[in-house]
Amino acid sequence: MSAGRFAPSPSGDLHLGNLRTAILAWLFARASGRDFLVRVEDLDRQRSRPRFEAQQLRDLATMGLTWDGPVVRQSERDHLYAAALERLTAAGRTFECFCTRREIAEAVRAPHAPPGSYPGTCRDLTEAERAARRTERTPAIRLRAPAREWTIRDLLRGEVTGPVDDVVLRRGDGAHAYHLAVVVDDGDQGVDQIVRGDDLLDSAPAQAQLAHLLGLPEPTYAHVPLALSPEGRRLAKRDGAVTLRDLSPERAWELIGASLGVRARSPAALLDELDPTGISLEPWVVHG
Ligand code: GLU
Repeated sequence: MSAGRFAPSPSGDLHLGNLRTAILAWLFARASGRDFLVRVEDLDRQRSRPRFEAQQLRDLATMGLTWDGPVVRQSERDHLYAAALERLTAAGRTFECFCTRREIAEAVRAPHAPPGSYPGTCRDLTEAERAARRTERTPAIRLRAPAREWTIRDLLRGEVTGPVDDVVLRRGDGAHAYHLAVVVDDGDQGVDQIVRGDDLLDSAPAQAQLAHLLGLPEPTYAHVPLALSPEGRRLAKRDGAVTLRDLSPERAWELIGASLGVRARSPAALLDELDPTGISLEPWVVHG
């Protein structure tokens, strides 16, 4: 099976930018004969709410989108993430990391370190050092990344090479990390085309490398432009009528259609009218 997907986090209402991404994900999938799946990314238990999940699914349906198979929830799939982590550990691909955020931030102030990267502090601790540190703190588990950069294929941008480092796979509090969950889910669900906002472009090389290390096929990506407010910020609720709470689905289609330069007001019409690989990479400035 090959599939595309939309994978919202149920931490708020979908705004016009999210709806546009969902519609484009649907279009990329259907235009290439793929199934289209919806996955609820409720890994962050603090921010996820069942009422947002229900509302998001209703909003997707209101826009006329249909998906294949049942909606899956990350909160119900911990066993898959644990099994993948065990496989990586058995292959010598993980290590325990005892660093606090602050320690990492201080260490990467070193010259030439890319911002946000892990300085490798715990990569080569001896067993005795690890045993001593374990008495102080439960470690996070990080990937022992074999490469420093990785190249992905993006349908809108061509080949994109980016830095990869020793990403966290399981946090100190025992929660599996976003990178691991996304990669395991996409592999398990047969997702070989990932369409999502271009705020996640920087995550793609690390995720593709992780897929490779888990023996999963590396997906093809399409990172689509984000929606911005007139001030150039990421679109948010405070920007006015930007969710289906304040907009009719007809009006939402009108705005999204105009942003794509098409007259289509339904998924089926869009499929006839638009080749998604040709869309503009400029951010969409929404006047809500
Ligand atoms: N759940 C993520 C979000 O809502 C998307 C992750 C992905 O598409 O890979 O931003």
